[in-house]
Amino acid sequence: MDTLRFDNRFVNELPGDPDRSNRRRQVQGAAWSAAAPTPVAGPALVAHAHEVAALVGIAEPDVQSAAFARVFGGNALLPGMAPYAACYGGHQFGNWAGQLGDGRAMSLGEVVNAAGARWELQLKGAGPTPYSRTADGRAVLRSSIREFLCSEAMHHLGVPTTRALSLVSTGDSVVRDMFYNGNAAPEPGAIVCRVAPSFIRFGNFEILAARDDLALMAQLVDFTIDRDFPELAGIADATERRVAWFADVCERTAHMIVHWMRVGFVHGVMNTDNMSILGLTIDYGPYGWLDNFDPTWTPNTTDASTRRYRFGQQPAIAQWNLVRLAEAIAPLFESGDVLQSALERFGDVYMAEYEAMNAAKFGFVVRGDAEQLLVREGFALLYEAEVDYTLFFRALGEIGDTLPADNPIGVLGDVFYDDAKREAKADALNAWLYRWHTLVSTHGRSAAERRVAMHAVNPRYVLRNYLAQQAIDAATDGDASLVQTLLEVMRRPYDDQPEYAHFAARRPEWARVKAGCSM
Ligand code: AMP
Ligand code: MG
Ligand code: MG
Repeated sequence: MDTLRFDNRFVNELPGDPDRSNRRRQVQGAAWSAAAPTPVAGPALVAHAHEVAALVGIAEPDVQSAAFARVFGGNALLPGMAPYAACYGGHQFGNWAGQLGDGRAMSLGEVVNAAGARWELQLKGAGPTPYSRTADGRAVLRSSIREFLCSEAMHHLGVPTTRALSLVSTGDSVVRDMFYNGNAAPEPGAIVCRVAPSFIRFGNFEILAARDDLALMAQLVDFTIDRDFPELAGIADATERRVAWFADVCERTAHMIVHWMRVGFVHGVMNTDNMSILGLTIDYGPYGWLDNFDPTWTPNTTDASTRRYRFGQQPAIAQWNLVRLAEAIAPLFESGDVLQSALERFGDVYMAEYEAMNAAKFGFVVRGDAEQLLVREGFALLYEAEVDYTLFFRALGEIGDTLPADNPIGVLGDVFYDDAKREAKADALNAWLYRWHTLVSTHGRSAAERRVAMHAVNPRYVLRNYLAQQAIDAATDGDASLVQTLLEVMRRPYDDQPEYAHFAARRPEWARVKAGCSM
């Protein structure tokens, strides 16, 4: 590992905070503060993603070494690492929250791998920083398992996301004052190393706007473009380049949300400090996955009253967040109008990609009025009849050249959560299925071709909430094998894996929750 090559552009090119202590403070005139991981009692590797190790350039024998657990548990640094915590602000649940910053994350450095790709390594849970406010900078095993597994699951599902290299248990216990298990008993601590080309968030720009630090904002914008958007380098005019950059951020964000809607992912806490400038899913906290299709569902118990971050509202919130980013950077432009047309790209790209995505989920090649009507009616029926989102689309893709004339919904199998609702909607669903089959059969594809195409966009496996919880419970009792198994299953979420069929089953009744939470 000593041969990893670091090129720490963020700290080398942007101004840092002269105070190197982790005294909690407001940090002015700087994009980051120096930070140092606080050592832990007994770092031990629980799991790692070998694909991510390969991306970074860490060989498998090195991953298994004691040195790896020390470095990624926060007890040692490699030559070339320069740990820092970033300064950012954000809008939380719709309100400006002032300075937030990396309170329990710290970046170790930017690795440039043999292929020239840049990967920033960031520990989450490695101890306090100047941004930790009243908290401890630590993370518990359960939230770390959730972040580790979900980052990798999302990647393999084809959703833009930060990655996870490793999950290290610390040997220390952490007390979380929250509702989990109804008490605040000590829990095992852990550290995830997450990996992305950049961890810059909308909030990094917002904090500078709030402080009227336009010089540093201009510097941060141009730095971001130069480091993270090299494809824009060809635009000679600086203003044009900045506008193109913002439009690109809008497009990437739209693209990411379409993928969330496709796989049934609910982020749960889409505050502007949790929005990546690269359009990556970032900050896996109280996220959840749809079991039964319900656009009003949110996994975040702290959001239960207004449900601001519910599944169906994610596109609107993403746009709201982009408007906050536009407001932050607007002072860099003579007129905000240039950003307005870039913002409109969000809606345009979102609608176009969302419609195409839904057509693909339903197996439609043609996208006419009849298809659109069936999509709308289909979603309404899924909601009303309480149908499993993932299983339904997979079952739809399995339908062949003929549909039984009698009770066609029988072919869907075990996708319902409520017998009464199933019965109430059985006639409507049967009629819908019949119309769907008739229409899709006119689209010029064989059933076999349709099946392959549909299965490529409709996953068989998602990281259902109860599955992650089972892995957490076993790992808390010292058995991390289910973490490994789920990672393995989620490596091929579109493949039927007969040996793992039980991981595709609908949520068991004991696991029915209106909302789950994990921080
Ligand atoms: P989040 O809701 O996870 O996006 O976090 C919001 C803010 O709280 C960020 O500034 C985090 O760094 C900070 N934060 C969350 N948990 C902790 C913790 N255990 N210790 C210190 N800061 C934290
Ligand atoms: Mg966050
Ligand atoms: Mg978080």
